Amino acid sequence: MKVINTNKQAYLQQVKQQNISTVLNVIWEQQSISRVEIIEKTGLTSGTISNLTKELIQLGIIREYETVSGAVGRRRIMLGFNPDPYRIIGIDIGRSTIEVVLTDLTGNVLLSVEENTAHLRGPDQILAVIAPHVNRMKEKAAASGGRVLGIGTAVPGPMDLEKGIILSPPNFPGWDGYPLREELTERFSLPTHIEDDSCTCALAERWYGVGRNSRDLVFITMGMGIGGGVVTNGELVRGTNGLYAQVGHMSIVPRGETCVCGNYGCWETVGTIQAILKRSGGARTMDELKRLVREGNPEATRCMEDTLAYLEMAIINVFAMYDPEQVVLGGRLYPYLSDYIVELRQRVRQRTFSFVKDRVQITSATFGTSQSVIGAAAVVFGKLLAAPLDTLFDER
Ligand SMILES: [Zn+2]
Repeated sequence: MKVINTNKQAYLQQVKQQNISTVLNVIWEQQSISRVEIIEKTGLTSGTISNLTKELIQLGIIREYETVSGAVGRRRIMLGFNPDPYRIIGIDIGRSTIEVVLTDLTGNVLLSVEENTAHLRGPDQILAVIAPHVNRMKEKAAASGGRVLGIGTAVPGPMDLEKGIILSPPNFPGWDGYPLREELTERFSLPTHIEDDSCTCALAERWYGVGRNSRDLVFITMGMGIGGGVVTNGELVRGTNGLYAQVGHMSIVPRGETCVCGNYGCWETVGTIQAILKRSGGARTMDELKRLVREGNPEATRCMEDTLAYLEMAIINVFAMYDPEQVVLGGRLYPYLSDYIVELRQRVRQRTFSFVKDRVQITSATFGTSQSVIGAAAVVFGKLLAAPLDTLFDER
């Protein structure tokens, strides 16, 4: 009998978690919503909604406030997310910089720090730079009565997500096989998640950017490499080997150069900053290339035209493969291409099915160079919305 009781309890707990998740997702999407509207949208009973919202208010996840609307000044009690008392720490470990942020639950950055780590090598040296910042942010959160829900960490892929281990990332010496999640969990005594940095960029949009109202999006990040993250029906898609949406490795040039992935003619072989500069006719930086283009230098102009043609082709392929509501562009290269986005949009629209022309949306990343670290925090927020009880009571 005891076993049955335990199972029943576990089952009820699971149902409750599911219901809370549904309610939190509706509140997040609507930003401000009444209890009656939550009942309409979720199909849950008024008794359930009344109990769950009461609990969520007590836990400090959501809060009540009054609005006055219409000519008669009708007062309504609305519900929305409470930015306090919970906090999230986001870490972005890049190949040449690290960034750490402390955010509130709604993605507002309360503290942030960025450091150049190009001269450092391997996990020990880089974690030694990160640790004091994380500890300072933990203290800061505690001092204001906040509780850090967890740490989200963005790293160059590929990785074994189940084990929390990084697997031979290109141009990232010393990290192969490193048990990053375990190490961070132990050092900071907080629940920790790791995620591919292209995926965190997509998750930043999903939760805190354009994705709040757009459930199908593809994020393309361009810099020293080219990565992609796909959100479909609000969920990040991973594929069999964690290699989903490796847009940088789509074949784009027949008989092109060999690529680190084993293929040749990949978009990365022509679309990264170093590849662009290589065929620019002498420019050493993107700023220099931009200047040469403005001055009408024929080689630089040709180089930029080709770069945009490759990007156009890549975006067409992305629309054909994923049928997203939006393609969002970001990364360190993007500021040099953003002047051309209107033209790019028009060119892509001319090459898609006529009935979707007006629906083709190509936009700029919401968080600029902090996209990945905001996304690292968004990983924890996403866990809270998917499994609120597990996330809230995961004490370590
Ligand atoms: Zn490749």
